[in-house]
Amino acid sequence: MGEGSCRYCRVYCDWVIDPAGCEDTGCANLYGYDDSEGNRVLGCLAGVFRAELDQRTLAQVRAENGGRFGALRAVRRPLPICRAVVERAYPARLEAVGCLNPEFAEAHAGPAFRVTRGE
Ligand code: SF4
Repeated sequence: MGEGSCRYCRVYCDWVIDPAGCEDTGCANLYGYDDSEGNRVLGCLAGVFRAELDQRTLAQVRAENGGRFGALRAVRRPLPICRAVVERAYPARLEAVGCLNPEFAEAHAGPAFRVTRGE
């Protein structure tokens, strides 16, 4: 599944990003080109999300949605600049012992830590 998803247990966690954040932060990884019909197409050079978005559609959805676009599944772990969260598909399956892979939710360039069980 790559770094964007964790399937260590039956909760099924995925990083998701809102591409509205890419515009709002002026991220240098946000590329754009005009397709053969003159539509501006946007994507992520860092490969955090794979989809390419029509800029007019993005603007229209944002205008109707309080500035947000909505979540796209990340195909790799997001960068600190990304507007990203971990979405859990089945949080009720999270057992009392807790997450089996807590490092999954670390920011990519964040400080490393490891959660271990105490004696
Ligand atoms: S690196 Fe993150 S903020 Fe930048 S374009 Fe890619 S997804 Fe958007």
